[in-house]
Amino acid sequence: MELLVSHVILGVVVGGAGFFAGWWLHVRIPEKRTCVGQSDEHLIRELISGLHGLSTRMAADVNEHNTTVSEVDRRLTLVQSQGTSELGSLVDRLITANRSVQSKLTETESKLDDLSHKMEHHATEARTDVLTGLANRRAFQEEAARCYSRFRESDQTLSLIMIDIDRFKQVNDVHGHPFGDEVLRGVGEILIDQFRGRDIVTRYGGEEFAVLMPDTGVAESRRVAESVREILERTRFEFNGKSLSLTISLGVAEMLSGEDLPELLKRADQAMYAAKHAGRNRVFWHDGTLPHPLRSPQSRKVQPRQDRDDSAVAETY
Ligand code: GH3
Ligand code: MG
Ligand code: MG
Repeated sequence: MELLVSHVILGVVVGGAGFFAGWWLHVRIPEKRTCVGQSDEHLIRELISGLHGLSTRMAADVNEHNTTVSEVDRRLTLVQSQGTSELGSLVDRLITANRSVQSKLTETESKLDDLSHKMEHHATEARTDVLTGLANRRAFQEEAARCYSRFRESDQTLSLIMIDIDRFKQVNDVHGHPFGDEVLRGVGEILIDQFRGRDIVTRYGGEEFAVLMPDTGVAESRRVAESVREILERTRFEFNGKSLSLTISLGVAEMLSGEDLPELLKRADQAMYAAKHAGRNRVFWHDGTLPHPLRSPQSRKVQPRQDRDDSAVAETY
């Protein structure tokens, strides 16, 4: 009898978990449809339906097993009351039933594993830029939202750097689109090399990159931005026997208390456009009111300190 009770409990738990997983995925995933493309949606629906089928089959297998165990238990009671010697064959039947449900559960487990790997692979693909292998804009938005909640819950700082390749259209026009693609890949590699593992380097779109720097104040993010600018300036990109060099413009901003993500993005963008307007190949940072050029030996040469007029920059942007 104890045997029957434990098998029934196992059946209810496994079957219930299977149905719950299927139901949960069925109900929850379509909620996210607004940020998923049509082919993504098709694949996700296929995966959900696979999971739903597996959970249903798992529950059916467990039910079948329970029926067998109930039958064996009934016969065991009969054997005990009638004193017949059918015990051996009943035990055999129980062992066979156990083996059968075990192998079906193992098979189901491996199919669930396979499905979850497919879903994981798909989720990674949906967050990755195909050309550079960097996180894409969708991933940026998700990561930025995560960083923002951490920023609000703790006293951690958060910086954002917007990076735009200067006169990139000319690269395509003069050297061809494939060389342009190669340059984008190369810039992506340099950015991954230059930032720390916890920084989130993304291809924000076209020839524009955005880097989220958790736990980093503006002094440090400006320093890193300037160092990346210098490295890019010194790099030569090679492709099919041709080579070229280019520059980037960077805008830096640190999240201020009471600010939200769109405001931070807007300020980093304003700083980046101020850098473009000031002649490109430089870093500007936004202090919450105005964009300012970074005072480095390079930028001083281009824009002497005594002549610098931040208000003029602020008026334009
Ligand atoms: P600026 O210094 O003002 O930023 O000038 P720009 O030429 O870099 O900017 P613009 O917006 O005029 O041109 C951006 C170019 O980037 C145009 C577009 O064809 C190119 N581009 C965007 N995405 C890709 C891509 O994936 N591959 C290639 N090869 N080019 C791309
Ligand atoms: Mg550009
Ligand atoms: Mg651009």
